[in-house]
Amino acid sequence: MIKLEGITKSFGDLQVLKGIDLEISKGEVVSIVGPSGAGKTTLLQIMGTLDKPDAGTINMNGQEINRMKDRDLAVFRNKHIGFVFQFHQLLPEFTALENVMIPAFIAGTSTKEATKRAKEILNFMGLTERSSHKPNELSGGEKQRVAVARALINNPSVILADEPSGSLDTHNKDELHQLFFDLRDKFEQTFVIVTHDEGLAKITDRTIHMIDGQII
Ligand code: ATP
Repeated sequence: MIKLEGITKSFGDLQVLKGIDLEISKGEVVSIVGPSGAGKTTLLQIMGTLDKPDAGTINMNGQEINRMKDRDLAVFRNKHIGFVFQFHQLLPEFTALENVMIPAFIAGTSTKEATKRAKEILNFMGLTERSSHKPNELSGGEKQRVAVARALINNPSVILADEPSGSLDTHNKDELHQLFFDLRDKFEQTFVIVTHDEGLAKITDRTIHMIDGQII
């Protein structure tokens, strides 16, 4: 489903990715681990088309996405890739439900359809009671689950998560990790998760170890 071949990336004189080859199948929950500065976030950003490689190819669902024009890429990204970051990045002036609906609006989904799907996802996550709350009225764990709901709204091919549980306490962390596996089991959702959490890395289907810009 996702295939990266020969990905390299430098920032100035620093070569951060030194030829990454990686294949990820539908429904896999994959973790990427490694020391600080190994290039994990850079790899995730390139996989998510938020940054471009210097060389190499990225194929997603049969499309070579690194050859797309910027405008086509933005549309592709919104539809096919969901992002979850360490800090939820919800918009403070909107409710949980509205935050979840935003990527659907950008994709041109009708209000009726977006509302229906957002409610279904929030319900699946046990957040129905919280859907009219604004981010500052939600707990840290709830905010992160709303961020996952937002990442899911367009039924993406993959969710890319960068330290998604990095700001959570143990209980909320465990709940969020369980949610990833529930979503995989129910929707065959694919996840690629950059994490320093050894507990999470242990339970993912596959762990990719990176050191110094390479997969080892
Ligand atoms: P961490 O676990 O600390 O988040 P990481 O493995 O995710 O680290 P990256 O964030 O990918 O590492 O960074 C890899 C290297 O690239 C680091 O040395 C970092 O300083 C450098 N780097 C990342 N982004 C940029 C940028 N936009 N400009 C210059 N250097 C960058």
